[in-house]
Amino acid sequence: MAPSRDNLSAVLHKARDLRLEQKELPEPGPQDVVIRIHKVGICGSDVYYWHRGRTARFVVQSPMVLGHEAAGVVETVGSQVTHLRPGDRVAIEPGVPCRLCPICKAGRYNVCPAVRFCATPPVDGTLTRLYRHPADFCYKLPDHVSLEEGALLEPLTVAVYGCQRAGVGLGSRVLVCGAGPIGVVSLLTARALAAARVCVTDISPSRLEFATGQGADGTVLIDGASEEELAGRVVAALGGPPTAILECCGAAPSVRMALQAAAPRAKLAFVGRGPPDMDLPMVTIAAKELELNGVFRYANCYPLALDLVASGRVQLGPLVTHRFTLEESESAFQAALDGRGIKIMISVHD
Ligand code: NAD
Ligand code: ZN
Repeated sequence: MAPSRDNLSAVLHKARDLRLEQKELPEPGPQDVVIRIHKVGICGSDVYYWHRGRTARFVVQSPMVLGHEAAGVVETVGSQVTHLRPGDRVAIEPGVPCRLCPICKAGRYNVCPAVRFCATPPVDGTLTRLYRHPADFCYKLPDHVSLEEGALLEPLTVAVYGCQRAGVGLGSRVLVCGAGPIGVVSLLTARALAAARVCVTDISPSRLEFATGQGADGTVLIDGASEEELAGRVVAALGGPPTAILECCGAAPSVRMALQAAAPRAKLAFVGRGPPDMDLPMVTIAAKELELNGVFRYANCYPLALDLVASGRVQLGPLVTHRFTLEESESAFQAALDGRGIKIMISVHD
């Protein structure tokens, strides 16, 4: 097949100014691969950049290609790449650290101060026909794992790391706050890790219905009842207080309710991004010796997430509720902003 000259890309210039433009054709460095991108899932952060030109910490100051949940087919490989070859189907881990600092050497590369993450300003993302990436941050997909599933490994990896940070394991009673894509993959992961029961909360009945369809043992609708009352409903749904909590919405009342419901010594993983500051019940945290763990993306979890999918223990297919082409990117972002469905997928190549 002749190499493609088309590198149409979805480039955000500023809030609400997304343009389809041809970008330079990427050439691989010695340790890189160039990937023909097939599928890119839309994440909340992409929608924030598109809608507002920023997230809490990062501002789009120069044109940037959006997208970071991606999979595709290797087109060319650099001279030193030995584990991938043209034609391999791969999932892309979008955050590449410096690899040299003490934090990277300790294996915590997600919090490397020099990490470069796709579609986090000023780094270009993956909504582009041809994309260059370090080969060791690409994971070869087995034949039976689809490219859509490959793209969905990114949010699944957030859940795998979140479950590690919340200590989810055999027999855990798990509370997942928020039934968006991240909450749902957290539910799926907790079940795969042999949690005893999983309860999911949300303010949206339709999202809770979806979580029930994905195997939630119980759900609690956040309906204006007091935090005490809601915590009681969570404990009843789980048959006891949660031992592991994945906070996947970021709302302060949700965090407080979860801490109130928590079992002594429970661990809470802060996945959701909420306000920069919040009031928390410090006496409860101290008296129950609760552990509050931040979550910043993930480290060393892509292979685990891929194994969950390849072994059939997690099925991601039902999460994709809407599909668009690269040329329809603007409509895809609008659909995501409107909160339609669960996961919106863009096809860059079929
Ligand atoms: P989403 O917005 O689609 O889902 C959030 C869900 O929380 C929604 O269904 C919403 O109805 C629900 N919600 C709102 N208020 C609530 C409340 N008080 N109680 C319970 N549920 C409530 O977002 P998502 O894509 O599923 O991501 C979830 C969160 O995780 C976001 O805040 C996102 O920024 C964050 N995130 C963090 C990381 C990380 O590295 N820590 C990575 C990816 C996403
Ligand atoms: Zn580093």
